[in-house]
Amino acid sequence: MSDSVFRNYIAGEWVEGPSAIANVSPADLSDVIGHYAQADATQTRAAIAAAVKGQQEWAKSGLEQRYSVLMAIGDELIARKDELGRLLAREEGKTLAEGVGETYRSGQFFHYYAAEVLRQMGETADSVRAGVEIETRREPVGVVGIITPWNFPTATGAWKIAPALAFGNAIVWKPANQVPASAWALTEIISRQGLPAGTFNLVMGPGAEVGDVLINSRDINALTFTGSLETGRKVAAATAVNLVKCQLEMGSKNALVVLDDADLDNAVECAVGGAYGGTGQKCTASSRLIVTEGIHDRFVEAVIARMKKLVVGHPLKEGVHIGAVADARQMESNLKYLELAKSEGAKLAYGGEVITEATEGYYLQPALFTNTSNDMTINREEAFAPIACVIKVKDYAEALATLNDTNFGLTGGICTESLKYATDFKRNAKTGCVMVNLPTAGTDYHVPFGGRKDSSFGPREQGTYAKEFYTVVKTTYIRA
Ligand code: NAD
Repeated sequence: MSDSVFRNYIAGEWVEGPSAIANVSPADLSDVIGHYAQADATQTRAAIAAAVKGQQEWAKSGLEQRYSVLMAIGDELIARKDELGRLLAREEGKTLAEGVGETYRSGQFFHYYAAEVLRQMGETADSVRAGVEIETRREPVGVVGIITPWNFPTATGAWKIAPALAFGNAIVWKPANQVPASAWALTEIISRQGLPAGTFNLVMGPGAEVGDVLINSRDINALTFTGSLETGRKVAAATAVNLVKCQLEMGSKNALVVLDDADLDNAVECAVGGAYGGTGQKCTASSRLIVTEGIHDRFVEAVIARMKKLVVGHPLKEGVHIGAVADARQMESNLKYLELAKSEGAKLAYGGEVITEATEGYYLQPALFTNTSNDMTINREEAFAPIACVIKVKDYAEALATLNDTNFGLTGGICTESLKYATDFKRNAKTGCVMVNLPTAGTDYHVPFGGRKDSSFGPREQGTYAKEFYTVVKTTYIRA
């Protein structure tokens, strides 16, 4: 398989790119998953032109056709979750269980939006003018450009592709270059659904070329992006020039608050799962642990005891809890942040060692820092690493103020047995998602997802809220 080149999918055809890259597993540098075509600017423009034509046909499709297509994609993802989850784990480095779970969840997104196809209701109103009636209905936004990151290779694609198709749009998808295999596998499933040519296009390639064409195109009607804040700003600036609708989901610096009255065992599970799951490479990861002084020492001791039980290793090996870091660049960045934390005066309470496995790859033991303050760079910038920092505070009021003292705002969590504090937190945490006695990472697929401040921009993703982005409203006035 590794000798063949997996091609781009444009206008209903599999097409060679002008070049190709090797997709190497970060868990085993000798494991070449395959070679993947790289589109250039010309090919990306061809994909956009194909989508413009495809959209006109797909918009005419009946509701039952759209329903069946989305159901079939969801069914196949779920039926093949073990095989595709394994592929995902190999190329991204997360554990097999996480890869399988992500593939299953991706299927659920398609099933959810299959049902949503049949729920497209408009509204009517009386006019202020006698004899005139008004109706509002939603129409497809048109051609949607989709740009996704490497940390959830299938799920981020799925939660954008499913609503885009459900509401009658055509798609040009550019996945992250670290994880083309999962994107190609999902595209292969979509390619067998009998969609009009050009309805769905896959262009693999670098952000600076393929992504750049997408974000600067006037033929794209809406651009949805998930990735870093730095790239998100470029996407917002470019789409604003052309007045293209834009939706951004970016990084964060999520915090979990642990109060004196918390159930200690649950707080430890929330902290360890939220901080280190997915090797800490989640936009919802709890990189800040804000702990009140009465429970601080017990909490730190219990977290370290729990961390000692975490097995870091090859993602496909049984019993492994933490897989590999996604690539050399991310590993280098993680090591830089570990050194930075130490240089700022944070105390490395546990972990942070580079681990040698039987296979050559990027393995890092999760790290816990104590004695940190919220103004340290390690608590301000998103490291996207298995690194968590404990910030000791006096009381709930200081905990809440510390949680909100950041330019990000995706998720925020609290562990407490107090209804009073949980209720106040729910109302006053300046984040898009709030978790009470739950990890900051881990969300459902049928409700809105997104953040505030530098974490998100534009309409919410997922659930019924997705229609704000994937449709435009038309208001019709009728005199009988
Ligand atoms: P990234 O910004 O480097 O890349 C994201 C995507 O943008 C990739 O497909 C990349 O090729 C493309 N890209 C890069 N430069 C571009 C350009 N100039 N023009 C157009 N496209 C360009 O991010 P990443 O490293 O792949 O992902 C990690 C980031 O994603 C983290 O910050 C993480 O928090 C964030 N993330 C957010 C969410 C969320 O829902 N909020 C979910 C997952 C990941």
